[in-house]
Amino acid sequence: MNGREILIAGGGIGGLAAALALAQKGRKVRVLEKAAEFGEIGYGIQMGPNVARMLERLGVLKSLESAAVFPDALIFADALSNDELSRISLGDAFLERYKFRYFVIHRRDLHGGLLDACKRREEIVLSPSHGLKSFKQEKDVVTVTCDNGAGYEGAALIGADGLWSPTRQAVIGDGAPRMAGHYVYRGVVPDAQIVDRSRIGSMTIWGGPDLHMVQYRLQGGAVMNNVATICSRRMRRGEPNPGAPDELEELFARTHPGVRDNLRYVSRERNWVLHDRDPATNWTEGRVTLLGDAAHPTLQYLAQGAQMAIEDGVVLAEKVAAVGEDYHRAFMAYQRERMNRSARVVLSSRFFGEYIHVDGGARELRNELARGRDPHHPWEVDWLYKGIDVNDRL
Ligand SMILES: Cc1cc2nc3c(=O)[nH]c(=O)nc-3n(C[C@H](O)[C@H](O)[C@H](O)COP(=O)(O)OP(=O)(O)OC[C@H]3O[C@@H](n4cnc5c(N)ncnc54)[C@H](O)[C@@H]3O)c2cc1C
Repeated sequence: MNGREILIAGGGIGGLAAALALAQKGRKVRVLEKAAEFGEIGYGIQMGPNVARMLERLGVLKSLESAAVFPDALIFADALSNDELSRISLGDAFLERYKFRYFVIHRRDLHGGLLDACKRREEIVLSPSHGLKSFKQEKDVVTVTCDNGAGYEGAALIGADGLWSPTRQAVIGDGAPRMAGHYVYRGVVPDAQIVDRSRIGSMTIWGGPDLHMVQYRLQGGAVMNNVATICSRRMRRGEPNPGAPDELEELFARTHPGVRDNLRYVSRERNWVLHDRDPATNWTEGRVTLLGDAAHPTLQYLAQGAQMAIEDGVVLAEKVAAVGEDYHRAFMAYQRERMNRSARVVLSSRFFGEYIHVDGGARELRNELARGRDPHHPWEVDWLYKGIDVNDRL
């Protein structure tokens, strides 16, 4: 272990992946987490071969496999007709092309796997109930003050503090993220409750006018993860209660009965309001940088937000290892390498949000194009799934 510790604000998936990657390079790390406990919400998350490659580097892939589910295909279906439009086969040809498999996993299992690995590293100190309040930089030290009054001096600070990142506000100062007007309802139910079992082994997404539904199994197939998303027309019209449960019912009323029936599996108790940001070019200031949603929050339509955060952590650690104590140089190299890939995810996700949610003539065209797709050549995600070259170039 060498040098002063690196401070990470935020112990989500991104912050923990970065901590682990830095510890593997022999750096001392302190993770400051605002919440009283390190944890994640109780729903599923999709992991492509690009991130499986990173999880293997971090030494956690094997331990996650027992909790993961490996679907046989990613199916895209029309929500009005319930017809399958296209699929990406996740079998041998996929494995041969991308070297790693696609899997889905409960967020708590993924986060828990990273957390356990962090706890095993003597280089890492985990500090719950330590929300970053402010920081200041001097020549070779960053001093952080926490909301509980504690203070730390670190060699550098990484803001992995999520969509509403206070670190970002100090570094970029670009205010609140962009509200997309999309609202998400989720539910995880025992597998035995699922009535239509025709696509049970796949990850299925039904796209419809201003809505979509996603279903895949978790925890060895014991439970089904269900996600219903709507693009609020009320919000576009400036009306009250945008995205409320009755708007969910209203928009899904047009869908095929077999699709609409899936709404019984999502809870109406809360919804998530989706945000993203236009890609930025200035995540780094001196010895402070941003990572994950703090740097490049995205809509979920490529299911890559957490995957980008994990890739960020691995690349960042590689650059840090290459420079010794010149953190600014390392962070600039990291930012350069991550900027366009994460920007492409943000902008492509917006495009796929449009593509999934179209109606009328655009829906006809989309369906025709989707039907012509080769299940063994997922061209639109090929660049993503091939993964990244992790290197020490500065
Ligand atoms: C509906 C939906 C589905 C999604 N599906 C997928 C998917 O299938 N695959 C995928 O890869 N991504 C998916 N994502 C995106 C993914 O959830 C996020 O991109 C990812 O969780 C970001 O991780 P993060 O660590 O950067 O931020 P977060 O997970 O937000 O973690 C930030 C952490 O910082 C802490 N924090 C906040 N403020 C402070 C502070 N001041 N000081 C200290 N700590 C602080 C928080 O408590 C939290 O623990 C989805 C998102 C949504 C909304």
